[in-house]
Amino acid sequence: MSTAYVYHPIYLEHDWPGHPESRERLEQVNQALDDSGMRSRLRLLEPEPITLDRLYHVHEPRYVESIEQTARHGGGGLKGRGDETYVALKSYEAARLASGGLVTAVEAVLRGDFKNAFALVRPPGHHAFSEHGEGFCLINNIAVAAATARHDLGIERVLIVDFDVHHGNGTQSIFYDDPSVLFFSIQQWGIYPGTGHWSETGAGKGAGYTVNVPMLPGWGDAMYARLFDDLLAPIARRFQPQLILVSAGYDPHWSDRLGSMMVTDLGFFTLTRRLVALSDELCGGRLVLTLEGGYGLQGLAYGVVATFAALLGDASFADPIGPSPHPERPAEEEYLDQLRALHGL
Ligand SMILES: [Zn+2]
Repeated sequence: MSTAYVYHPIYLEHDWPGHPESRERLEQVNQALDDSGMRSRLRLLEPEPITLDRLYHVHEPRYVESIEQTARHGGGGLKGRGDETYVALKSYEAARLASGGLVTAVEAVLRGDFKNAFALVRPPGHHAFSEHGEGFCLINNIAVAAATARHDLGIERVLIVDFDVHHGNGTQSIFYDDPSVLFFSIQQWGIYPGTGHWSETGAGKGAGYTVNVPMLPGWGDAMYARLFDDLLAPIARRFQPQLILVSAGYDPHWSDRLGSMMVTDLGFFTLTRRLVALSDELCGGRLVLTLEGGYGLQGLAYGVVATFAALLGDASFADPIGPSPHPERPAEEEYLDQLRALHGL
């Protein structure tokens, strides 16, 4: 079975002059897919716009309408909280096709049309809350996909893994009291949005179903691999997901200007290999990723190529960028032990 990707040219039309979350990000990804020969190994899936019913599984109708109106009036920044986030003329349409594109990918994988899939969408989503957007995000694509899988597609348990360098605060808030969606998030501590402390573990019936790993600057491939092996894998085995969704952000790359982590593109390859192995073991290989951040354009572009190589089952990946000139901070056993104890492992 093959690997699919979702793409639509409208994802480039969500754009704002000088903003780091720019169309260039996806243009560079497109270029790298062509230059590396990766595109010819993948199947293109055409996205369907998300229906309002499915959008409202997660978002307040009033908030959705406000995005639509801002776009219709020519665009602008979100008001108040989230004023770093823009709505351009085509952003509403792009956001409907971004969340719709991820759901299209989930449906195709659940039908068995493809083994796994990666939605190369913009705008990103994991900072969008039910009733407001922030952090360059308008619609929470992964939350809409997880909620749609739960409500409409017969899935009872969804694991969301978020390796973007920023905490997926919107996703966390949407599922904080929901035991059917386990949210596992690794983020650099001390940067936007300021949440994602290890003590945030869910509430009510969802207590224990949110797992946060705040990270010190400088940790890289070694620490991420240990976290996937020693924390994520046993938690996933305990949870027994029927579908694994991934907020794939490439801003942990060492060259990224918004983060201070030291992950390489080879690191993204080995992390995705671990996700493929977990999904093979636990849920018939059902694994669907969605693009979140990543602002070092080459690190992002070849990180996406590396991810596809792992999704296709390649045994190795030649990282054209290579490691940082500075050494990464070694993995810290004591911290891993503390996290494991906190989560009953
Ligand atoms: Zn990010």
